[in-house]
Amino acid sequence: MSDGDGFILTKIIATLGPATDEIGVVVRLIEEGARVFRINFSHGGFGQFVKLLEIVRSASDEVGVPVAVLGDLSGPKIRVANIDSQRVVVETGQRVAFQAAPAEPTGDPVTLTMTDSSVLDDIEPGERLLIDDGAVRMLVMERADDDDGTRMMCRVTVGGPIGRAKGINLPDSNLTLPSLTDHDRRCVDWALEHEIDYLALSFVRRAEEIRQLRALLDERAGDGGAIPIVAKIEKPQALDDLENITREADAVMVARGDLGVEMDLAKVPIIQKHVIAMAHDYGRPVIVATQMLQSMIEQPTPTRAEVSDVANAIYDGADAVMLSGETAIGRHPIQALAMMARVARLTVDHLVREKDQKSMRPSRQLGEGRYRTAALARGVAAVVEDLDAHLVVTWSQRGGGARYLSKNRLTVPIIAASSEPRALRRMSLLFGVVPIEMPMPAGREAFANEADRLLQREGWAQPGDPIVLVAGKPLGVPGLTNTLWVRYVGDEEDEMGGEAE
Ligand code: ATP
Ligand code: MG
Ligand code: MG
Repeated sequence: MSDGDGFILTKIIATLGPATDEIGVVVRLIEEGARVFRINFSHGGFGQFVKLLEIVRSASDEVGVPVAVLGDLSGPKIRVANIDSQRVVVETGQRVAFQAAPAEPTGDPVTLTMTDSSVLDDIEPGERLLIDDGAVRMLVMERADDDDGTRMMCRVTVGGPIGRAKGINLPDSNLTLPSLTDHDRRCVDWALEHEIDYLALSFVRRAEEIRQLRALLDERAGDGGAIPIVAKIEKPQALDDLENITREADAVMVARGDLGVEMDLAKVPIIQKHVIAMAHDYGRPVIVATQMLQSMIEQPTPTRAEVSDVANAIYDGADAVMLSGETAIGRHPIQALAMMARVARLTVDHLVREKDQKSMRPSRQLGEGRYRTAALARGVAAVVEDLDAHLVVTWSQRGGGARYLSKNRLTVPIIAASSEPRALRRMSLLFGVVPIEMPMPAGREAFANEADRLLQREGWAQPGDPIVLVAGKPLGVPGLTNTLWVRYVGDEEDEMGGEAE
């Protein structure tokens, strides 16, 4: 819809944190267009996660819009361990020590510790050590091993402030780290217990790591409890196994923060396009993340370059765009969301109007294996186009059918009904999909009539508008989406010949 008050087809993800830990703020974020909330397990603790989760669930109830919660597993990310509330500023040229033994950061030289000191063994002089997505940079000068363990001396090449728990990247070092830490395993249990909707895995290197996480989830979850996995692409190794990773994962994230320090920063735009195209081809929702409106952490308006970045991610074919520090710790979380929503709405509406063949192309590999739901979804696109329909309405009990429709880039909102709250929350990530809770109707005709009433009640359609319906028979059986039919709003007549169900 291009009238300004309709749906935004592109999905917006907001990272939660101290700037957004009040229900009033989260309500506003949902009203402005946030549909997924990210909890980064690297920061805060379980007490804070519970609080954030409860706020999101309550805010979602209050607004009456389902939203998903994405839990972000840290993976083998090393962080500065001994800086608390007070940040430490280091100057270019200054010496900084890293050591295994506990230390106070104050003093000369500034002495820092890492969340995993064992990596000190893998670092050699001459290698780069980057902090906070590369904002502060150091070169390792020498290492000393004495009775207190390893101590490593660095020289700051780019100074700046170092805040609490900032990440450390060692792009030149050969680190031997497991893909899931003990902390990650505790977070997996927590996520299962609290019915988190998606789990992101950081620093994925190989498809095998996704399989390992899935196995762990299956083992812990029991029946039907497994959580869909988002593969964060931020390591050079992941690009070598990208196709397999994409197939193995349920969704993909271009995690530009770490990607931009693990790889040549100048290559990030190329990689972004490549990862998006691959994910889209395989029917996986793809998220573009990090620094999208970074300056809004401090400023009430973004830079022109940031606005262009959001729009270009959508041009590249992203299903969702994400805010990180802007909403987690920023001074203007609501303005940042509203800005992103405005850019997303105008951009995606423009692409729809222009029938942009590149940005709005359907996934290529969806029909693989002659899958009926996929084939039908392709047909829906043609019907929508021929009838100039403004909406598609589908019954998607588990959300699988909605994903196929989404990945065909229908160019109109897909109203996706289900009676399962969890499915509705998960569908919130899908491009173009508007999840709606509905008690399971008796059959397709009852569903069509209910949809008709809903569209008129909400003002989403006018009498006489053509509506494309997609459902299965019997209704609600996963994988059984097999019927497409057309109705005109307000017209109770059954185009299928009054078939009784
Ligand atoms: P990642 O590599 O997973 O993106 P990150 O350290 O870059 O990790 P983001 O989630 O991108 O973290 O958030 C940006 C910043 O916001 C963090 O560096 C941290 O300072 C702050 N932040 C995020 N979540 C929280 C939280 N729950 N509590 C406190 N601060 C947070
Ligand atoms: Mg980040
Ligand atoms: Mg990262």
